[in-house]
Amino acid sequence: MKELVSTLTGRRYPFDRIEEFTEDGESLEVRFGDVANASIRTGKHLWERFGDFLPFSQIDADISLGEGQTALLPADRKLAEYTGLDRLWLKNETQNPTWSFKDRGSLTCIAMAREMDEQVTATISTGNMGNSIAAYAAKADLRAIVFVPGFTPKEKIMAMGIHGATVLKVHGPDYSVIKKQILDLAGELSLRVVSGNGPIRVEGYKMIAFELLEQMEGEVPDYIAIPTSACGHTRGVFKGYRELKEAGLIHKIPKMIVVQARNNSPIVSAIKQGKKQVIPFSGFHTVAEAITTGNPMGGDEIIDRAARHGWLAEDVTEEEILDSQRRLAASGYFVEPATATSLGAIRKLRASGKLDREARVVMMLTGSGLKDTSVLGHHRADVRELELPEVAQEVRSLLGR
Ligand SMILES: *Cc1c(COP(=O)(O)O)cnc(C)c1O
Repeated sequence: MKELVSTLTGRRYPFDRIEEFTEDGESLEVRFGDVANASIRTGKHLWERFGDFLPFSQIDADISLGEGQTALLPADRKLAEYTGLDRLWLKNETQNPTWSFKDRGSLTCIAMAREMDEQVTATISTGNMGNSIAAYAAKADLRAIVFVPGFTPKEKIMAMGIHGATVLKVHGPDYSVIKKQILDLAGELSLRVVSGNGPIRVEGYKMIAFELLEQMEGEVPDYIAIPTSACGHTRGVFKGYRELKEAGLIHKIPKMIVVQARNNSPIVSAIKQGKKQVIPFSGFHTVAEAITTGNPMGGDEIIDRAARHGWLAEDVTEEEILDSQRRLAASGYFVEPATATSLGAIRKLRASGKLDREARVVMMLTGSGLKDTSVLGHHRADVRELELPEVAQEVRSLLGR
């Protein structure tokens, strides 16, 4: 039997519950059947091979845009030297169909809409999730409604609009307040509004653990570094490994490294200060636009797990974020600022001795740099303008001849 269970107090709710959290804001997770007896099957798609771990009897291939199958690459010498880690890997989620890991969760959210026979899907987002849901809804021929706060940049709205989504730009006091009120409306309107930390989205993010298991040929890393905002990604990756262990397919679960921008660190601050609850942030600014949830619903679960499983947490300054973005680009990875936070964070954790040099660490490259061009003003590009007759001389001097 499929059901939803609240993650801190273990209260049970029906699987088809429209609201993504309990009445008092606790996160929910999917439980079903017998994970202990789950096994890996053969199949073309990841969701088929790991179908025993997913709450859908079937996912139609026609709703997929080819998410996943992203590269896992060892860090080059420059990044290894910079972080002080000998065994660092980069999982390049910018290779997903809409250039962020959000696509993995959109697949399961659309599968849920199909299972519930819903014609409309909605989300609230300032960027990547709205873009992803808009694309996946278009593919599955569903109507998409994306709620965005008034300050959302035009380029991001266009990326949702091109897929035919209806974008409702909502003006209100604060993004957290807008988000909470819209999520509260979901039940009243019988409209499933999927957020970044909903239980069904988390089922999609779980597949990252499955894919890593295959790519690392059964090996499990010691740590996985994740830039964290709504918290869905972090708990999805963890849940995936937790269930693999329950099924006896692995013997240990990697520790998560929770990373946030110092200017908005509601989870990291709480973990560092040994608090049990999220410390809300508001009125802040950070270049890491994709991780700006100041008061994440369900965030207490992450703080609780961090304490029980010995997870690490680190924050980074604006300067460190931009420097990390440059360093990743200098190694060939153009990621957005939110993604770059992890590099600075693991360097600091290594420097303070919290990470050993030999620790096997996977860094999730969550989203592409191309979607956030405003930040490029912070970086120098070597661009020279010249007249045609000057070219030979310029290139000679460039080559030092
Ligand atoms: C959504 C997002 C995050 C944060 O993930 P959560 O699941 O909200 O914690 C990090 N980086 C990028 C690029 C994102 O789009």
